[in-house]
Order: sequence, then C-alpha cells, then structure tokens
Amino acid sequence: MAKSNPGQSSPSKGERKVELPATMTVKQLAETLGISGVEVIKQLMQNGVMAGINQTIDYDTAAIIASDMGFEVREKAEAEAEVIVREEDEKQLKPRPPVVTVMGHIDHGKTKLLDAIRQTNVVASEAGGITQHIGAYQVETHGRKITFLDTPGHEAFTAMRARGAKVTDVAVLVVAADDGVMPQTLEAIDHAKAAGVPIVVALNKIDKPNVNLDRVKQQLAEAGLVVEEWGGNTVCVPVSAKMKKGITDLLESILVVAEMLELKANPDCPASGVVIEAGLDKTKGPMATVLVERGTLNPGDPVVVGDTWGKVKAMFNDVGKRVKKAGPATPVKILGLNAAPQAGDTFVVTATDREARATAERRQLERQQKIVRPVRPVKLDDVYAQIKAGQAKELNLILKTDVQGSIEPIKNSLERLEFGEVKVKIIHSGSGNITEGDVLLALASKGVIIGFHTTPTVGAQRLAEAEGVDIRLYDIIYDLVEDVERAMKGLKEPEYAEVTEGRAEVRAVFAAGKKEKAAGLMVTEGRLRRDSLVKVIRKGQVVHQSKITSLRRFKDDVKEVAAGMECGLVVDGFSAFEPGDIIEVFRREKVG
Ligand code: GDP
Repeated sequence: MAKSNPGQSSPSKGERKVELPATMTVKQLAETLGISGVEVIKQLMQNGVMAGINQTIDYDTAAIIASDMGFEVREKAEAEAEVIVREEDEKQLKPRPPVVTVMGHIDHGKTKLLDAIRQTNVVASEAGGITQHIGAYQVETHGRKITFLDTPGHEAFTAMRARGAKVTDVAVLVVAADDGVMPQTLEAIDHAKAAGVPIVVALNKIDKPNVNLDRVKQQLAEAGLVVEEWGGNTVCVPVSAKMKKGITDLLESILVVAEMLELKANPDCPASGVVIEAGLDKTKGPMATVLVERGTLNPGDPVVVGDTWGKVKAMFNDVGKRVKKAGPATPVKILGLNAAPQAGDTFVVTATDREARATAERRQLERQQKIVRPVRPVKLDDVYAQIKAGQAKELNLILKTDVQGSIEPIKNSLERLEFGEVKVKIIHSGSGNITEGDVLLALASKGVIIGFHTTPTVGAQRLAEAEGVDIRLYDIIYDLVEDVERAMKGLKEPEYAEVTEGRAEVRAVFAAGKKEKAAGLMVTEGRLRRDSLVKVIRKGQVVHQSKITSLRRFKDDVKEVAAGMECGLVVDGFSAFEPGDIIEVFRREKVG
C-alpha cells in the first residue's frame, strides 16, 4: 500500500466507503477521499478547525469531514504494536485481579482505609519487605489478589480517564458514618457512574459513638445507591479503618463485585498497560510505576511509554522487592526508560529496541506538529456534526448552578430534549462554582459544562482553556435550554445585535451604600431603562459593561429616565465613575 494514501480504497460510483487511520495529514485525507486539499481545508474551517495541508488531524476530525462529504467511514486497524496486542484470542484469556480506586468526601477516611487494607493483607509471600509507595499495591484474601491504586479520590480517577487510561474496575466509596453523604460523596458517585464503574460502599468510622447507619443508607438511597438489604444492588460494608474492623468483609465484597465483571486478560503476550506514577530519581534516573493490563512484563523487554522508550532494566514491587515478571493487574516500578513519562501514558512492549525507538520518535514528531484534536473535547457547537457522523448518541452535560433549587427544573427541561436517537444525559449536577474536577469529568466523558448563575474557579477556567473544554454560562433558563436544543438540531447559535437605547453623561460621583458609588447623570439621548444593560465609556473606551443595579430620580426608584433629565445610577460591580464618563444603555436583540 502506498504510504501517502492511508485509506484502503478511493471511492468510486456507488461505493462511498472509506477506512481512515488514527491520524493522517490533511493532504492524505484529501487523496483518500479523492477531492482537492482546498476543499478539505474549507470543510475543516466550516467545522471550526484551522489546519494546513501538511498538518496532522485525528480520526474523529477526518471522520466528520468524510461523512459530510457523503462517505461511510470506519476506523482502520493500524498495523502497529499497540493495536496488535488488543486482538486477543478468547481462549488465551485468564481471570485477573480487579483494580480498585478509593473515593469519597474529604476526611471520611480514604487514606486511613488504604493504610488499613495494606497493613492487614499484604500478599503473603511478600511479607517482610518494606512498604514502598509506588502508586499502587496488591493485597491477597482467600488466595485472590486485589490491586489498589493508592492515590485516592475521584479527581485522580477522572484525570487518568481524561488521559484515556481506564484502569479502575471497582470504586470503593468511603462514607464516614458520623458525617453521612456529603457533596464530594455525590461527586464521586457521579464520576464513577460516568465511567460505568461499579461502586462498593465502605461505611467507615463505625467505631465512633452515636453513628446511625440507617440514616446514611437512607442518604445513599436518595443518591441512587440502594443497599442490598433494602432490596437494591449496592454492596455496603460497615468498617472502621481506625480499628481495622470489617476490612476482610470489604475485600470479599470487592471480589464478589469483581466476579460479576468477569475480568480477564491474556498473560501470555507482550505486556501493555498504563503509567500510574512517574518521576526522576536523582541516582536511578527516570522511573515509572506501570500497571500491566495485558501480557507479562519482563526485565529486558523493549518498551514504548507515551512518547519515550527504553529497555526494562529492573522491576520492583510495592514492598521494594525485585521481581522477574509482572502479569495482568500487577503494578511494578520500572527502571531503564530514557525519560520520565507522565501518569496516564500507555506503555507497550515491542519486538525490538528499534521498533520501540521508532514508535517513540514518531509520537514525539506528532506532538511537535501539534495534532489538531478539536473534537475530542466536545464543543456544544460540534454536537450536531458528531450526531450526524453517528459518533454521539448522548449529549453528556455537567450542570452547575448557584443554588440547589435550580438544578431540578433545569434538569427536567434538558432531559426532555431529544433529537432522533440522541438524548441529553446529565452526568453530574451540583451547586457551587465550576471546579477542575468538573472540567476533568467533561474531558473524560466528552461532555459540555453548563453553568447557571455560577462561574468557573480560576483553576477550572485555565484547565478548560488548555484542554479545550466548553463551558457555557447562562443567567436565563430559557436561553440555556434553547442553546442545547439548537446544538442538537444543528442550528447555529442565535446571533445577537446590540441596540443602543440611550446615552448619558456623568456629572457627579457620590456614595451609595457602604462601598458602592453612584453616578449623577444627565441623560443626553434616548432614555435609560432600569432593566437595560449598560456600558461605561471613558475617552472612547469601554471600561465596564454590566447591568443597572439602581436608577433613581431624587429619592425614588424609577423605571426609566428620558433625555434632558437628571438621575442617579448604580451599576453592578462598578464604582470607579469619573465626571465626563459616558453611560450607554442598550439591549440585546436576536437577529436572523
Ligand atoms: P481522607 O481525607 O478521606 O483521606 O481521610 P483520612 O484518611 O485522612 O482520615 C481523616 C480523619 O479521620 C483522620 O483523622 C483519621 O484518623 C480519621 N479516621 C479515619 N478512619 C477512621 C475510623 O474508622 N474511625 C475513626 N474514629 N476515625 C477515623
């Protein structure tokens, strides 16, 4: 097959099917589709992607363009190491240990529980070693192993998922019996659910006096987790991390839940998996803890990790012992890489050093070329394109509001929306600011964040900008619902035009309340209305834009003031008026 043509077939009449690889240049896509590069660039632009002819785009982007051009698109299996290892023979699959993440509200005992589990159930043959923190550990109960990731919390879990690493099989939700279900408990539940990971509840701190387990079970039921004894299917185990009570019960329950998942992997192939932790050791160089997902890792294996590579020099387990092999679900710390990878990177063993090096170099090149991945994080405006390309069946939304009371009505209006087979799914809702956790969840679940009367934290805003996650902020429910509906139906966002209603000049500035200042105005044109939007203009520059808080004539609140009259004005969030400032009031009107 010619290198310059990544597709298997060019379309001819009546046959408009095309297979596209994971990444390709714009030029290659054009050749594959049999159309001009200019046409492809035009189509990309219409989908909000600016890319040059030699720029690399990913499959998702190419698929949208190809399906817009009337092609039936399929992803082509790449003849590369990472893909080959996924094609496993059913017969070679063997049961493997579950991988568990511990989540829950702060101070409910996640860390203490991870310690208690580790101390009581170290894998028997390894007892005597010195406990090392490598990012994960294994315990054994009834001769069966369980792997725990020891960075607790749903943020860490979702951050890994956002990087494409889906390693957790079971989530243990720690709920302190004396505190009950708290905001981060609810977040953790939503994060686990969005990932489709089953939850085992550890009702912790039962050693405390006056704990009411039924009360917590009631709260859990309200959050959608009905415990088994009440007829639901959530396994709930009372424990005390402090007294090391109930730990064996908890481990048994994890094994039972894992049993239902029929977790299997092929141990007899070259290893691949995920980096859990990585860093540079002053004396030993780059180190990484990897979790083997399939195959068996051995010292001497050539390995590609993210966009670095190496040859495994030595491997250590979580009690600091050198190990000769690591099978599925086993965490090991490895030495021998050329550079430290990142947590969430995938690794794969290759046949030769040369192949490992070549793959790493190709990945570095792709990174330098900044592969355009505009549709990986979803933009509300892209939703229709994805629906059309058959890539979206659900529009995942994360809803944050200022007060709890706003959630239900908005949820109800949104969940009623459907378009063809596509439905809105609110994967998480809550009150308060939009957090980094929300942004990660959006990224991991290809969702869009909707804020109602709330704003992102500085960290969340930065992360969203860096990762291209769409955050939409609204003050009016109608606008919010309409925007989502329009996105689903492929309509463009309405355009608004500003209509100036009046102008006034600041003549005086005086105190209004404790901190605020009011402006004494002379209305020079049109009229000022109480519910208009407002701009403060100084020397031709807009220095502030918001809404009117108060409009008065003499001591009375008024609805409007016409040209030629004086009035007093307070503007939302602005006090730095200066005599001579121009106040312009306007309204927004939909056009088209
Ligand atoms: P995390 O923030 O969820 O990781 O919580 P920690 O593990 O740091 O625990 C928070 C506090 O609760 C610490 O002071 C622990 O000692 C205490 N704690 C944890 N588990 C128990 C328990 O089972 N019983 C009691 N009485 N205290 C506990």
